[in-house]
Amino acid sequence: MKRAIFPGSFDPITLGHYDIIKRGIKLFDEVVVAIGVNADKKYMFSLEERKAFIEKSFEHEPKVKVVTYKGLTIDFCKEIDAQFILRGLRNPADFEFEKAIAHTNRKLSNIETVFLLTAASTSYISSSIVRDVIRNDGDYTKLVPDSVRVNP
Ligand code: ADP
Repeated sequence: MKRAIFPGSFDPITLGHYDIIKRGIKLFDEVVVAIGVNADKKYMFSLEERKAFIEKSFEHEPKVKVVTYKGLTIDFCKEIDAQFILRGLRNPADFEFEKAIAHTNRKLSNIETVFLLTAASTSYISSSIVRDVIRNDGDYTKLVPDSVRVNP
């Protein structure tokens, strides 16, 4: 069973994440969307909300699981027997950052990181820009899956 984890904060999930997950399930038997819990980070959405948004987006897709985890991503991969880490690349800055993490993970484990280039139509989207749009009452619905809705 080829299992990949797609780790991130997903605060909130965007159409960019959605595209990577959709394409990931064509490559792997299972894609585990893993929301990392970082006690020092301030989030706009609670862990439960972030998890529910992703679950709702993929409620008809049995190959997608959503979990939360603490600690090193590679330790969590070993725990759930995931052989791959899936990541999306939007631009050169993502590449430089991801390269260092992927090399480190390879040094510490035999888990492979698989990168997908983001779809051109969603490559400019980031969770931080979505949060800014939400904070300023903009139409964020064009940037996120239908499951992401903010209570007024
Ligand atoms: P992190 O806190 O790890 O940056 P994110 O939730 O922002 O978590 O991103 C998780 C993964 O999704 C990363 O691999 C990131 O490159 C990818 N990603 C983020 N935005 C997009 C996008 N618009 N298109 C494709 N992939 C994206």
